[in-house]
Amino acid sequence: MALRNIREYGDEVLRKNCRKVKVFNERLHTLISDMLETMSNANGVGLAAPQVGILKRVVVIDVGEGPIVLINPEIIESEGEIIKPEACLSVPGIVGEVPRPRRVKVKAQDKWGKPFEIEGEELLARALCHEIDHLEGVLFVDKAIKFLEPDSEG
Ligand code: ZN
Repeated sequence: MALRNIREYGDEVLRKNCRKVKVFNERLHTLISDMLETMSNANGVGLAAPQVGILKRVVVIDVGEGPIVLINPEIIESEGEIIKPEACLSVPGIVGEVPRPRRVKVKAQDKWGKPFEIEGEELLARALCHEIDHLEGVLFVDKAIKFLEPDSEG
């Protein structure tokens, strides 16, 4: 495993659309391991492949309940709305209030290509939406309705 460089706001790669993963090989597994290590090292709750410069539909999330790996994730249901402060490893020092669904259901594939579904509420729902947005080149600052002082993140 190895740490990868986290791309920051202004880097064009963060604005690109990511390609669907079709080959579930060793190379993909190395990317996933590196992303998990990079996320954990940066104390993040999620990381999407474009944040390490790879334009593939790969997301890792850990909201404190263990790592979740999602390949080709898609939101298939969403419900409610919560506005809460949000931040991003690629946009250091910025916190903004972003409306997100209270609950989402996502379909994805695991690292072997096996399909599964996951439901998330609150923080997990927020993380799922935030990371899936990254795969379309969308950043939380695009959706923030208000920006806060970084110290008020809580
Ligand atoms: Zn982010």
